[in-house]
Amino acid sequence: MKITGIEITHHRLPLDPPFNASWDTKPRVHFDATIVRVTTDEGLTGVASGDTMTGFAGHEPFFIGQDPLAIERHYRILSNIQFHYGRCWPLDLALWDLAGKITGQPVWKLAGGLSNTVRAYASSGTLRAPDQLADLAEQFLARGFKAMKIRFHRGDWKKDIAALEAVRARVGDRLDLMVDCNQGWRMSWDAYAPWSLKDAIKVARELERIGAYWMEEPLHRSDREGMRRLREMTDVRIAGGEMTRELYEFRDLIRDGCLDVIQPDAALVGGITGLRRVAHMAQENNLVFTPHTWTNGMGVVANAHLTAACCDAPYLEFPYDPPEWSLARRDFMMAEPLDVDAEGNIVLSDAPGLGYALDEATLAKTRIG
Ligand SMILES: [Mg+2]
Repeated sequence: MKITGIEITHHRLPLDPPFNASWDTKPRVHFDATIVRVTTDEGLTGVASGDTMTGFAGHEPFFIGQDPLAIERHYRILSNIQFHYGRCWPLDLALWDLAGKITGQPVWKLAGGLSNTVRAYASSGTLRAPDQLADLAEQFLARGFKAMKIRFHRGDWKKDIAALEAVRARVGDRLDLMVDCNQGWRMSWDAYAPWSLKDAIKVARELERIGAYWMEEPLHRSDREGMRRLREMTDVRIAGGEMTRELYEFRDLIRDGCLDVIQPDAALVGGITGLRRVAHMAQENNLVFTPHTWTNGMGVVANAHLTAACCDAPYLEFPYDPPEWSLARRDFMMAEPLDVDAEGNIVLSDAPGLGYALDEATLAKTRIG
């Protein structure tokens, strides 16, 4: 079997009302998705989504005519492309979807087969008043979730702590509560500074008092010494790595003792092929590996397959903050949105590949390129 084509299309869903993501100073008035399709001479197609595939155009000949199952070879080419251009890892995910369709197996089995189930945590994305955030936490409990992630981005961390305290007061110990400080990186247009180590220490002491499950991205991604020192000073797990570009950076973060929880996203770095290595690295070092998934539903599915296949993750991120970030918005390109079961688990089927289907009518209506 040979790869005969790679088709990339771009789609835009208008968001009215806009989505005010806590980590972005600009309201989001549309949500873009890029769909990658890899076709073969035997009529099978692998499909994936996630990043924008910036810079991929012109690289198709390095894949066309190749065996689709030579996934490690394709990984090396994609790694070269991401060094020179953008993060074109959705192609790796599409190749895994295709490999599943070729072999008749779901990706979670091909990638390790440990489990078909992963427990999800509801990952909020907006900044709500403390009472409203506590209401949302109760909604998550009613939906079966056992954990929720809260955003710390109100400009004054004391206000963030007040929001976390309101949730803890309402739900007690019925939800594990993660906190995302979002200090590791900024949007292209945002110039404000990240927290210092002294800020992060003060926040960490409050999180210890309230019993937070982890503290995510408390410092700029470059401050590895700060992360290492913070990790030694607090019992709260330190999490990070969602936008890290290179696998060797994870090797170094682990070696330097910077993180308890490793959070790369298969759609943004390494694909399933590369991140399986990082998952094993984390396991060998007795650290938690649990991917970031904040792209779209297809990205969540790909990360869920990887996580179920070979990781012992306590939770996987499930981006969800209704009504602003609904499953209908997040998964607009999918025939069926990905949802959790009554216990808050993502349960993957035995369907070949990544097991999802596209909503072709919506994709046609939303196509912009
Ligand atoms: Mg994050």
